[in-house]
Amino acid sequence: MQTVPKLIDPFARAITYLRVSVTDRCDFRCVYCMSENMTFLPKKELLTLEELDRICTLFISQGIEKIRITGGEPLVRRGIMEFFKSQSRHLASGALKELTLTTNGSQLRKYATELASIGVKRINVSLDTLDTQKFADITRWGRLAQVLDGIDAALEAGLRVKINTVALKGFNEDELDHLVTWCASRDMDLTFIEVMPMGDIGNEDRIDQYWPLSDLRKRLSETYTLIDTDENTGGPARYVRLEETNQKIGFITPLTHNFCESCNRVRLTCTGELYQCLGQEDQIDLRSVLRANPNDDAPIIQALHGAIAKKPKGHDFDYSRNELGGQMSRHMSHTGG
Ligand code: SAM
Ligand code: SF4
Repeated sequence: MQTVPKLIDPFARAITYLRVSVTDRCDFRCVYCMSENMTFLPKKELLTLEELDRICTLFISQGIEKIRITGGEPLVRRGIMEFFKSQSRHLASGALKELTLTTNGSQLRKYATELASIGVKRINVSLDTLDTQKFADITRWGRLAQVLDGIDAALEAGLRVKINTVALKGFNEDELDHLVTWCASRDMDLTFIEVMPMGDIGNEDRIDQYWPLSDLRKRLSETYTLIDTDENTGGPARYVRLEETNQKIGFITPLTHNFCESCNRVRLTCTGELYQCLGQEDQIDLRSVLRANPNDDAPIIQALHGAIAKKPKGHDFDYSRNELGGQMSRHMSHTGG
């Protein structure tokens, strides 16, 4: 029997997908995401693992079918595997169809087998370059060998891996073919992301990093036959299949593409703010509702419905006048990418 989604927004969109940032911390300092000297939140500001479990469970009771755990780096949060194990009960019951995560890959050697054993089937790993020095430059603190070993561990554990690559002008343009063939040789799909204006990241000039995916796609079509697919996950990704490799290639173009009409998702930050839209500042504070009602779920469920009732129609990032018109003041690592 098909479950009827219970969270419906004012534009008749069913909200079935929750992205949850479990920490603002990370063991990397990617130049487009963080500044080198980040001040992270004090621990008491973060939702505890028990609070995260409770809120996710309540969301699932209201029709959320897919949860993606992100951050910061989700796998550096202490005790995170306890949270995954606990949430896996909803996979077992069938209420949750998918539990997944987005990770920088650094901790996968440690956790991949356990993730697979509790029912995680697919993961996204972010990787912008296959060059050791460039990897060290872009992540500031990361080591490529460790991430590649983590990806191997995930594949050995039977997880499907999708690589997410931020398209950066003058940085990974020359690696397009190598990234595609490297992923194909491991039976991994690949999604390119356009760089977004998020938070204060120090001295980097983000407009200078902007490489439109329309251009990337054109370059790809000089080597491969791109077959459009009508796959739509309700988010900003569009997919093609490469005839030559049978690989799925995604394009996430939040700045240049209007995808809002099919939006099915909301985002929970590590401090319990629920953002109805990645590109808008509107949010509600679920943490205070949670903490005020330790034994009563009804006010929390009411707050969830209240938030969905205010989900905006669309977002308003704007690079069009070559200025950061729609820049968001918060970091992606806080909201969860
Ligand atoms: N640490 C994990 C990771 O790197 O996969 C999860 C969190 S990270 C914020 C999620 C995704 O957001 C990554 O794929 C990262 O490349 C992407 N990201 C971060 N800052 C971005 C930006 N300014 N524009 C576009 N993508 C960004
Ligand atoms: Fe960390 Fe991910 Fe941000 Fe890189 S993109 S600094 S790995 S949170």
